[in-house]
Amino acid sequence: MTPATYFIEATYLLASVLFVLGLKAMSHPESARRGMFYAEAGMLAAIIGTLMHHEIVSYEWIIAGLVIGSVVGALMAIWVPMTAMPQRTALSHAFGAMAAALVGIAEYSIHGAGLGTFTLGALGFEVMLGSLTTTGSLIAAGKLQGVVRGTPIQFKGQQIFNLLLFSGTLASFIYLLLHPANAAAFYLMVGLATLFGVMLVIPIGSADMPVVMSLLNSYAGLAAAATGFVLSNSVLIIAGTLDGFSGLILSILMCKAMNRSITNVLFGGFGAVHAAGAEASGTMREISLDDAAVQLAYANRVIFVPGYGLATAQAQHAVRELAAQLEARGVTVKYGIHPVAGRMPGHMNVLLAEANVPYSELYEMEQINPEFPSTDVAVVIGANDVVNPDARDNPQSPIAGMPILEVDRAKSVIVLKRGQGRGFSGLENPLFFKPVTSMLYGDAKASLSQLTQAIQHAA
Ligand code: NAP
Repeated sequence: MTPATYFIEATYLLASVLFVLGLKAMSHPESARRGMFYAEAGMLAAIIGTLMHHEIVSYEWIIAGLVIGSVVGALMAIWVPMTAMPQRTALSHAFGAMAAALVGIAEYSIHGAGLGTFTLGALGFEVMLGSLTTTGSLIAAGKLQGVVRGTPIQFKGQQIFNLLLFSGTLASFIYLLLHPANAAAFYLMVGLATLFGVMLVIPIGSADMPVVMSLLNSYAGLAAAATGFVLSNSVLIIAGTLDGFSGLILSILMCKAMNRSITNVLFGGFGAVHAAGAEASGTMREISLDDAAVQLAYANRVIFVPGYGLATAQAQHAVRELAAQLEARGVTVKYGIHPVAGRMPGHMNVLLAEANVPYSELYEMEQINPEFPSTDVAVVIGANDVVNPDARDNPQSPIAGMPILEVDRAKSVIVLKRGQGRGFSGLENPLFFKPVTSMLYGDAKASLSQLTQAIQHAA
């Protein structure tokens, strides 16, 4: 080995260790930020190592790519709002997967039948997963952004069609392994996998996109690992495998949080049948700001339940101020965090951490649910689906079985939202019609600030 090779292997080893440490640190909100720094440092080490490679003949294109990629990445990080983070992540998966697929296509067009069976197998796997993840992630991003219809797009015989498409992709892959020189089989496999990515994601509703995205993330990781085998690149194998399996574990955890199976998410067409949800009837009771302030000021125990509306209103600082005001009056304040509240895993944790809400005040669903019956006021801040009692009480509901934060068991519930808007699932929420519930209409940030002021002036 030359000194340059030693250096490259050392940077790859360092990068791999940093990726593992990064993932470990990201498993807890308090150390997650540090985890991101480890991962960034790991990526930098891997890039430096790769740039030292002796096979590089010219740096012009590489530098051009680095500059364009860095500028686009920085602009996206600066300008994409937090609420659009899921579609931004889906786009990143699409780019990562496209890179893996293009590397595979380039390798095949250069070496063709000269690749050994093992390498060709890894390459086929890489190109198949890379192609389907590219189009699947683009559709997912389009659905989340509202460019592609968010409700499931279904047609008669769809599952048979998808099965045929999947079998065709696999068949061309196997044919390629038996006849490595047959470029037509290779490009047929690429085309079928690309189409399969589209067909796999269009029948899935937007509400299930987080699970789909983490599955696609897993595929992109596995495609990268396969690229590592093709290029004999150890850091790609390690990072790809870490990415592949952490994505898979996240998908399983999210399915658990919604009480669904992966097959139900992928083939259940969730969200296509809004009519199946009970149409709650009755009237919603409105509460005035002053009355809500009095209830909160004289409560002993208050639980805040944030949801997507907290993110759109950017109300994380306002809720922290209200909590501080209440705590100064001796009220016990806690936050109930649902695992899929908002639009991405950990969305509420990130927002509340940004506002310096102490981590010790955040409670997971299982911890906080038993506390609602002894809570004076549950304040729902822009949450809807995650507090929908239909999920628990109505077996016909499309979200039946999804675990919820049981705010309706509190002595009183105040819901902060702008109007009659529905949640992500598009379902009506019977919570808003319950006698225990009152509605405080308005933008969450404005309502919270006004409540803080009103309580400040309360005796
Ligand atoms: P949600 O069901 O989407 O409901 C959000 C509510 O916030 C709406 O009913 C809306 O009502 C209100 N709202 C919007 N802007 C507001 C503002 N500025 N001020 C006050 N209220 C505002 O939210 P959720 O309860 O957090 O549930 C999350 C849903 O998203 C679940 O269905 C979940 O499966 C899905 N999802 C989750 C993820 C994830 O990983 N966390 C990702 C994608 C999708 P008004 O219009 O009347 O104000």
